[in-house]
Amino acid sequence: MSYVKIIEEYRRYYMGESTIVANNGISFEIEKGEFAIILGPSGAGKSTVLNILGGMDTPDEGHVFVDGIDIATYNSKKLTKYRREDVGFVFQFYNLVPNLTAKENVELATQISPNALDVDNVLEDVGLGDRKLNFPAQLSGGEQQRVAIARALAKNPKLLLCDEPTGALDYETGKQILKLLQDTCKNTGTTVIVITHNTAIAPMADRVIHIHNAKVRNIEVNAAPLPVE
Ligand code: ADP
Ligand code: ADP
Repeated sequence: MSYVKIIEEYRRYYMGESTIVANNGISFEIEKGEFAIILGPSGAGKSTVLNILGGMDTPDEGHVFVDGIDIATYNSKKLTKYRREDVGFVFQFYNLVPNLTAKENVELATQISPNALDVDNVLEDVGLGDRKLNFPAQLSGGEQQRVAIARALAKNPKLLLCDEPTGALDYETGKQILKLLQDTCKNTGTTVIVITHNTAIAPMADRVIHIHNAKVRNIEVNAAPLPVE
């Protein structure tokens, strides 16, 4: 059974007289431990899918199974718990608390999580073992994104959801972050879902879900994804 399974999911926004259909019958599956990419141009409906998977938005129709449970049936209380405990988020901009150290930023996330991992180990895993007492302003963009990834992973989430995680980084630094995400899947079995408009990343993913005009256009499965290097 698939770890993530979305069946005929619709999300519409009503703006006065007009209706924007952001997701129009989206269906796809992702296996546990996969590095999956949701790829498509701006406005295609990618963030809407990610927001629904992350419990930040709810579909108008359809089923959204994560680890066997249909989160589309969750009320807001259950969704809040799901968001806090089961999902890690990584955004384009790192959203770190500026007056807390790297380690304190990660600890903040683990305080509300019952499955939390050892913060020092996670910081070590993302390559920040020797920078954990630095404040965000003392870290490079790539290092700040590593803190954000550590913060998300330290909850030991079912899903790590990343919205354009390399969007604010230069090419080389972005590559290192992609490599970290790819290695995270391989080494920890975490299911990672990245949304991007960058087609160059596709060969490095286990699965690429192409979204165009609110629909899934096609799905590629890479039996042997290229290592990021
Ligand atoms: P992408 O992430 O691929 O750029 P989005 O999922 O953000 O696409 O958006 C899909 C469509 O839904 C777009 O036309 C967008 O303007 C619209 N949309 C997204 N969020 C909202 C919202 N909260 N209210 C109204 N329209 C929205
Ligand atoms: P954009 O500016 O449209 O986001 P970029 O070309 O800057 O796209 O790529 C975004 C990130 O994806 C880069 O930071 C880079 O690290 C990574 N990337 C793109 N192409 C490759 C590639 N062929 N191999 C490895 N990483 C890549």
